[in-house]
Amino acid sequence: MKYKYVVVGAGLAGITMAERIANVLDEKVLIIEKRNHIAGNVYDSYNEEGILIHNYGPHIFHTNDREVYQYLSQFTQWNDFWHRVLTYVDGNLIPMPITVETINKLYNLNLTCFEVEEFLKNQAVELSEIKTSKDVALSKVGQDIYEKIFETYTKKQWGIDPGELDTSVISRIPIRLNRDTRYFSDRYQGMPKHGYTKMCEKMLVNKNIHILLNTDYKEVIDEISYDTMIYTGPTDYFYDYKYGKLSYRSINFVFETYDKEEFQEAPVVNYPNDYDYTRITEFKKLTWQEHNKTTICKEFPTEEGEPYYPFPTKECKEQFARYKEDMKQEKKVIFIGRLAEYRYYNMDAVVRRALQAFDEMIK
Ligand code: FAD
Ligand code: UDP
Repeated sequence: MKYKYVVVGAGLAGITMAERIANVLDEKVLIIEKRNHIAGNVYDSYNEEGILIHNYGPHIFHTNDREVYQYLSQFTQWNDFWHRVLTYVDGNLIPMPITVETINKLYNLNLTCFEVEEFLKNQAVELSEIKTSKDVALSKVGQDIYEKIFETYTKKQWGIDPGELDTSVISRIPIRLNRDTRYFSDRYQGMPKHGYTKMCEKMLVNKNIHILLNTDYKEVIDEISYDTMIYTGPTDYFYDYKYGKLSYRSINFVFETYDKEEFQEAPVVNYPNDYDYTRITEFKKLTWQEHNKTTICKEFPTEEGEPYYPFPTKECKEQFARYKEDMKQEKKVIFIGRLAEYRYYNMDAVVRRALQAFDEMIK
C-alpha cells in the first residue's frame, strides 16, 4: 500500500492534520486508529437509554483562539454553553473556581470583592519561590482553602502530593476577585450542537481520507510505504520504551443511569474530600438533551489503564526530554498531540498545534 501521508491516531490532532492534508493539499491520507471509533478522547455516543454521553469524561470546548474557533465552526454549530462547577466542601455545594461567592459560602461571610482581595492576602502564605502546585495554591489562597479544595482532590487525581507536581496543574484553576462563577472565562465557549463525534465525522468527509480502525499501527506499518507519518500515539510506545515507560494518569469512568430527570444541581460537581471519585458529570446538563432519565459519570483516577494525562512531575519531564532528543532526529515523522508530545493540551491547543504543524510541514 502506498500513501504519501499516514496519520497514527484519530483524535483531534490526527483528524485536524488529515483534514488539512486532504482538503488543502488534495493528497491521499491514511489514518490508523487502534480503537473501534474515531475522535480519540473527545468521542461521544448515545448509550442504551439514548442519552448522549462523553465516553472519556466531560469535554467542554473553550478558547480565546479565534482562528481555532472559526476552523472548527466549519464542521459544527455550537450550543452556547457556560460551564459551571460546584464543589462539595463541609457539607455544602460551593462554586468553583474560587470567586467572591466561593469565599463567602465557604466561610459564611458577606464580603465585597475588595474585602475578599484583602481576605485572601491575609490567608496567602509568603514563599520565596513557587516551585510546585502546592506552592501555587498556598501563595494564592493559604493553608485552609488549600486543604479544603485542592490538597485531597489533587492527591486523588494524581496519586501524589501537590508538593510533587509541576506548577502547571493547579495553575489551571483561576482565583477570581469577582462574582464570575463560570468555570472558564474564555471568549468562545460551547458544545458542538450534535456532539464531538459528529463534528469529527464532518472533518473527515473527503474521499482522500481512508480510515483503518481497530488497528495498532505497528501491525500494519511495514506494509505501507509513506513519505510522512503524523504520529499522535504515545511516544514511549513508538520507541519501544527504550528510555522506560512514561507515566500517565488514567481514569476509570463509571456510568450510572437514573430513572429521574435530574441528578445534581450543576453539570459537574467536584468531591475534593469525600468518596474515591473526583467528580460527577451529568451529561444532559452539558448537552441540553431532553430525556426522562439521566446518565452521570463518576471519575475514579487510577495508575493503570488508558493513558489520559501526561504526568507533570520533574522526573517525568526529564525522562520525556530523552525521547525528545530522538524525536528531533526523525526525518519522516511529525509528533503532535497530548500523548506524542506528553503535554496537558486542551482541545483548542491541540487543534492549534495541528494547524501549526501543518503549516510548517507544507513550508
Ligand atoms: P487523543 O484524543 O488521545 O487521540 C490519540 C489517538 O491515538 C487515540 O484515539 C488513540 O486510540 C490512538 N492511538 C494511540 N496509540 C495508537 C497506536 N499504537 N496505533 C493506532 N492508534 C493509536 N479538553 C478541553 O479543551 N476541554 C475539556 O473539558 C477537556 N476535558 C477532558 C477530560 C478528560 C477526562 C480528559 C482525559 C481530557 C480532557 N480534555 C479536555 C483534553 C482533550 O481530551 C485533549 O486535548 C484531546 O483529546 C487531545 O487530542 P489528541 O489527538 O492529542 O489525543
Ligand atoms: N483541582 C483541585 N480541586 C478541584 C478542581 C481541580 O485540586 O476542585 C486541581 C487538580 O489537581 C486538577 C487540576 O486542579 O488536576 C486541574 O483541574 P481541571 O478541572 O482543569 O482538571 P481536568 O478537567 O483537566 O481534569
